[in-house]
Amino acid sequence: MKTEDFIQIEEKYGAHNYHPLNVVINKAEGVWVYDVEGKKYLDCLAAYSAVNQGHCHPRIINALKEQAEKVTLTSRAFRNDQLPFLYKELAELTGYPMSLPMNSGAEAVETALKAARKWGYKVKGVEENKAEIIACTNNFAGRTISIVSFSIEEQYRDGFGPFTPGFKIIPYGDAEALEAAITKNTVAFIVEPIQGEGGVIVPPDGYLKKTFDICKKNNVLFVADEIQSGLGRSGKLFAYMYENIRPDVVIIGKALSGGCYPVSAVLADKEVLGVFNPGDHGSTFGGNPLGVAVARESLKVLVEEKLVENSYELGNYFREKLKSIPSKHVKEIRGKGLFIGVELHPEAGGARRFCEALMNRGVLCKETHSHVIRFAPPLVITKEEIDWAFSQINDVLLMA
Ligand SMILES: *Cc1c(COP(=O)(O)O)cnc(C)c1O
Repeated sequence: MKTEDFIQIEEKYGAHNYHPLNVVINKAEGVWVYDVEGKKYLDCLAAYSAVNQGHCHPRIINALKEQAEKVTLTSRAFRNDQLPFLYKELAELTGYPMSLPMNSGAEAVETALKAARKWGYKVKGVEENKAEIIACTNNFAGRTISIVSFSIEEQYRDGFGPFTPGFKIIPYGDAEALEAAITKNTVAFIVEPIQGEGGVIVPPDGYLKKTFDICKKNNVLFVADEIQSGLGRSGKLFAYMYENIRPDVVIIGKALSGGCYPVSAVLADKEVLGVFNPGDHGSTFGGNPLGVAVARESLKVLVEEKLVENSYELGNYFREKLKSIPSKHVKEIRGKGLFIGVELHPEAGGARRFCEALMNRGVLCKETHSHVIRFAPPLVITKEEIDWAFSQINDVLLMA
């Protein structure tokens, strides 16, 4: 079967909620993926940063196989012998003493929103049903109805109302706007330390610190959505670490399982996550031993292979090289670590054609919005691999 045959079946039977590049992948290893025709590509998207540890990392696959042969799912009606260690290892790695495991990122965001509201009522003393949560323009936090209730992306909302009340939206990067939006009913401020889907938007220096201080002054929880920016992507374990703050709540997902299984989690102190009592919240698969074994190994790989450090160093190297390209199409190159956005001028005719040209040269990346190309390869990438990708990117950005 050829590429076209797979696409035809998919288009016929599947819902059309994505517009993928027309490459059909059937094998992957490290930073490389292979299509059904045997062509090899360097993956510069890394499944939206879920495969930071590289595709099919042998240690993670091994953990998956070993656990799959023992026990995969107990539900939380019973305990399993893996979950206690994920809790403990997350606490040791991140400094947050309590965590709550879920599956997808969106579920972890929902969990954090529920925790924040309940904290507001039970700890802060907000009047029943009055809790407000502040979010930012251009945010991305998933696709549930409550989450798209605080999106400003028209397409994410069109046709999906009525929306969940209780959210306010302020401009990203504007700390004064946060101060002005807070009321006695505000329970949380949810923010991506670097906006991924928004186009790899890095807020002004000092923004996280300023907004954190405003939250502290007003007894509002600072909730960092690190699902994409976290676990090494930005060149630090968490992107908030660039500003020496300690958010009240951190949400992780994606690379928590090295792309092998959906695993997400909410990290916080006992004051916040302690608001949940048995029966308040849950998930059949959340904290299952298969996912947990995979997550434990994924975290070990991240630390032992020094992937955070590699992201920092090679991110600086890659960004500097990209800045040297004398392309008339490029408006700005930004990012931290191996979390890089190349914003094109409106006259460039959109990012998609550059992504397609790169695909033809063996580099896979995806436009975010219409005018930004994101470069976010697995963090196991080497300097030589970056040099090779760079030469392709250089040629493509110099096309007419
Ligand atoms: C991907 C993402 C999510 C949602 O994760 P899913 O696993 O797709 O539900 C939430 N927040 C951010 C910042 C993300 O990048």
